[in-house]
Amino acid sequence: WNYHVTRFVTSAPDIRHLPSDTGTEVAFAGRSNAGKSSALNTLTNQKSLARTSKTPGRTQLINLFEVTEGKRLVDLPGYGYAEVPEEMKLKWQRALGEYLEKRACLRGLVVLMDIRHPMKDLDQQMIEWAVDSEIPVLVLLTKADKLASGARKNQLNMVREAALAFMGDVQIEMFSSLKKIGVDKLRLKLDSWFAA
Ligand code: GDP
Repeated sequence: WNYHVTRFVTSAPDIRHLPSDTGTEVAFAGRSNAGKSSALNTLTNQKSLARTSKTPGRTQLINLFEVTEGKRLVDLPGYGYAEVPEEMKLKWQRALGEYLEKRACLRGLVVLMDIRHPMKDLDQQMIEWAVDSEIPVLVLLTKADKLASGARKNQLNMVREAALAFMGDVQIEMFSSLKKIGVDKLRLKLDSWFAA
């Protein structure tokens, strides 16, 4: 599919307000600042499709984009803001879990992690929820340009080894919006999920 024609459809404050559970969705999740918005903008070749909401504590929205009719990219709220009250964090975690476990049209999950700080608790939780629901996962180790190529490969191998523990369909790749690393792999994966 041509991801460059992706357009914004709607925002939802929580999963109860999402559009009907039909068609195919691929969701993007990650800690705040992991590079999720940049990755979506790179994929779609649009400067500000996904806007970076840098204000923690503000209502976070689920943003839906349509690649073509019935095929949607879902930008889930970033998690892990240090400044957010515990109660609100838990509320959002539950909502993310509910989406990953109950959304029937969800066919794939992309989890973005800064290559320098991968596999934090909530990252692992996201993967676990997806694997439990038999949703395939693509982990993108973002900002790969920040590491020299040796260190980059070490991180990739380490995360790949750690991911074996999930015993599910979990693929790990390097990514950089800045240097356009891994964009083809992301596109191929999305194509396969949308084709199924
Ligand atoms: P989000 O909170 O997950 O949506 O993250 P953003 O996409 O807003 O990115 C967070 C910060 O990381 C911003 O300052 C970006 O400029 C930076 N960033 C994102 N992707 C890359 C990348 O591929 N390379 C580098 N060096 N910085 C990046």
